[in-house]
Amino acid sequence: MENFMDIETALKQIVNIVGRRGLIKGADAGPYLQDERALFHGEAALVVKPASVEECSQIITIAQDCGIGVIPQGGNTSYCGGATPFDSKRQIILNLSRMNDIREVDPVNSTMTVEAGMVLSDAHTLAQNHNLMFPLSMGSQGSCQIGGVLSTNAGGISVLRYGSARDLVLGLEAVLPNGEILSELKGLRKDNTGYDLKGLFLGAEGTLGVITAAVLKLFPEPLSRQTALLGVASPQAACDLLAQAQQDSDEQVISAEYISRESLNIVLAKIAGTRDPFDDSVRHVLLLELATSQSETGLRNILEKVLQKGVVSGKVVDGVVAESMRQALEFWKLRESIPEAERCIGGSVKHDISVRISQIPEFLDKAGKMLNAIAPHRLSVFGHIGDGNLHYNLLPPTGSTLKSFQEGPAQKLSDSVHDLAVMLGGSFSAEHGIGVLKCDEFRKYKSPASIGLMRTLKGALDPRGIMNPGKLLG
Ligand SMILES: Cc1cc2nc3c(=O)[nH]c(=O)nc-3n(C[C@H](O)[C@H](O)[C@H](O)COP(=O)(O)OP(=O)(O)OC[C@H]3O[C@@H](n4cnc5c(N)ncnc54)[C@H](O)[C@@H]3O)c2cc1C
Repeated sequence: MENFMDIETALKQIVNIVGRRGLIKGADAGPYLQDERALFHGEAALVVKPASVEECSQIITIAQDCGIGVIPQGGNTSYCGGATPFDSKRQIILNLSRMNDIREVDPVNSTMTVEAGMVLSDAHTLAQNHNLMFPLSMGSQGSCQIGGVLSTNAGGISVLRYGSARDLVLGLEAVLPNGEILSELKGLRKDNTGYDLKGLFLGAEGTLGVITAAVLKLFPEPLSRQTALLGVASPQAACDLLAQAQQDSDEQVISAEYISRESLNIVLAKIAGTRDPFDDSVRHVLLLELATSQSETGLRNILEKVLQKGVVSGKVVDGVVAESMRQALEFWKLRESIPEAERCIGGSVKHDISVRISQIPEFLDKAGKMLNAIAPHRLSVFGHIGDGNLHYNLLPPTGSTLKSFQEGPAQKLSDSVHDLAVMLGGSFSAEHGIGVLKCDEFRKYKSPASIGLMRTLKGALDPRGIMNPGKLLG
């Protein structure tokens, strides 16, 4: 296809569209070019921050005409290099952070319509201001943005009750790769008028267009929460206790997080203000939180009964139910600080696998044996056990650096982790997405039919391949 204007003219026009306030120049552009984990150091011709959907549309129209790659970027917290550009001449970053307006809150419909650049924690506050809750919650919520969250179909700590990002969207506005604005912001709970177009953009990692606004589902704010930190006998015991708690509480479990002793020890060593709630013989920890929007529910009684049954059966070896919000936050700190603690000890090789909850014990058992037979390493295993999603992270053996580990056996170990998850019918990428980091795995594990259909969609929507080139489909 022919270019209608040369790249230099096109870039100048893009700069004119966003104006001075929307252009990030020189050293200020640095943080936008590198990913969260500093695995990828990118390059781009421009970093721009449009202020409206119309500006996005104009920029993408020009990019389409000239074959300029557009990298949509939110909070740049991707764990897989999803928002990093790789071409100093023919790619631009379209950062959405200036587009953070509230379009509408409709408490009766239990929805809010917000722009894509709204930071997730601001979306929480907005919902709370209306005595409602937007339930998607995760460690990066102070930085990541609604557009990024939806584009990665992010998970977090409440998927068990409320689903992942995909389940929390009633409508979308997006700019298509030809510059057209698709507006599907009706916020309807029922609308059977053809294909689910919004679904195309959820989890697409910016490869099919730019999300500019969304209608998000809201829920009653739970009035009562009970949080327990349990030392459990085994991963099997953790899964059994979760099932028991779901049954006894009539599915009021909102989060179920697993922490291995190894992950706990790293946090205790590196994160100020943490202390070990158990003695060292506790090797597995289950963080269980129940919540309800009714105040008098006897949640605590339910949780204590689950605990009692667990003690009698030998599944719970130690445990405590939080006496205050402060104590509950201390429990959560032990879980939420694991990524930071891993960073403090030099970083890890991360995995983000999922299997059925019932297969977690089998996965852990088999993975442990397989990896021990391959090469020395240390583990930091934790994650959203209630979703069957584990971060089975590898650390270099004592005395080695992450770099030498990565140049040595890490790839083989990683392949085994992914092979095993897929062999058990699970996924090699449960919530972080593909980005650039997992393109090889994507090609290896996804079926040819799935990849073929995705390529057909990509080709139909984005024939020039301008949207987030090199990500997801490679
Ligand atoms: C400490 C920490 C904890 C985390 N915990 C979790 C967790 O529990 N669960 C989880 O799922 N993830 C987690 N993540 C990963 C990450 O925060 C999420 O993937 C998040 O959703 C990314 O949002 P973002 O705004 O930073 O997107 P970015 O990193 O900027 O972009 C991510 C992807 O979305 C695309 N994109 C961004 N905005 C748009 C848009 N408006 N339109 C189209 N495409 C767009 C980008 O091109 C890229 O492909 C964690 C990350 C950190 C650092």
